[in-house]
Amino acid sequence: MVSSGLQPQPDQPDAAGQFLTFIVPSANGCNLKCSFCLIRQRREIAEIYLSPDDLARFIREAAVCAPLFALAVQGYEPLLPESLPFTQAILGTGRFLGIPASLVTNGTKLADAVSLLAALAPSKIAVSLDAASADIHDRIRGLTGAWAAAVRGIRIAVDALAPSTRLIVSSVLLPSRRHYLDAMPSLLREIGIDRWIINPLLRVGGDQAGGPVADRSRLFRDLLILQEAARREGIRLTVDDEFDHLGHDAACVSDPSLRALHVRTLPTNVEIFRLTPNGQCSVGDDILKQETFDTPRWVPGTVHAGDFLEMLRRKPQAARRQRA
Ligand code: SF4
Repeated sequence: MVSSGLQPQPDQPDAAGQFLTFIVPSANGCNLKCSFCLIRQRREIAEIYLSPDDLARFIREAAVCAPLFALAVQGYEPLLPESLPFTQAILGTGRFLGIPASLVTNGTKLADAVSLLAALAPSKIAVSLDAASADIHDRIRGLTGAWAAAVRGIRIAVDALAPSTRLIVSSVLLPSRRHYLDAMPSLLREIGIDRWIINPLLRVGGDQAGGPVADRSRLFRDLLILQEAARREGIRLTVDDEFDHLGHDAACVSDPSLRALHVRTLPTNVEIFRLTPNGQCSVGDDILKQETFDTPRWVPGTVHAGDFLEMLRRKPQAARRQRA
């Protein structure tokens, strides 16, 4: 998955609080082989130390110290059988605390998980679909049959879970491959989806945060074309750019036609954290940097998660002060 797409409320510029995102483990790895996998680029699943109970504890302790904006499971594949206990712990804790919780899935196991998801009632599920054609999607994602399973899962989930859980499709826009997505709006309308998120392809940096891969002016042109196609089918398109790497507001000054694009960044007062299965945690746009041995690690029972997140929150400020 890319890191984007799971803000629980699309348009809440005044929102504030901690946005806790999670990578859940799978002993055998993900069932797909996407070349752009952010988790693989970040080398996130080196070891597994945390248990489902630890994840629930992390959320509860974090909530004691500062308001939680939302929770989101963003990878590997949260609906694989071996990942489900972790997913369940996160969504269940969110439900218990009354915090919006969501997940990104590749959709291949969605049909099987519908009953469980009905009980957990996430606020949002984003299913990854990168083309209207099965051949292209399966080639990008590295598994024949992935597209058909995801589309079937979406149809079943829309019937069983909407409207209390909002179903969304999320697509990666690859550089110079807009044509992969041109027919998506009519597919989405046909399968009962009215919200579409596009994530421009991201790269992960080594020493510093990465960002979008494509040339920005070409990217904006492609997004305008896709937005118009979506509008014609009654689909609301959102471009996720959590860390404002696209500089949409600034680009609108020189090209007012770009104001038509609905580009969403994280609200200013929302801090995003990403916890991996070994307890390492990144904050802000460090999420687009590779993990290293130095990435801070939360060890349950030795430090309160609220204090741990406070330490992370202060770290970039200290680094900024040093650079100034
Ligand atoms: S489905 Fe997601 S987690 Fe799995 S390989 Fe693809 S991008 Fe990575």
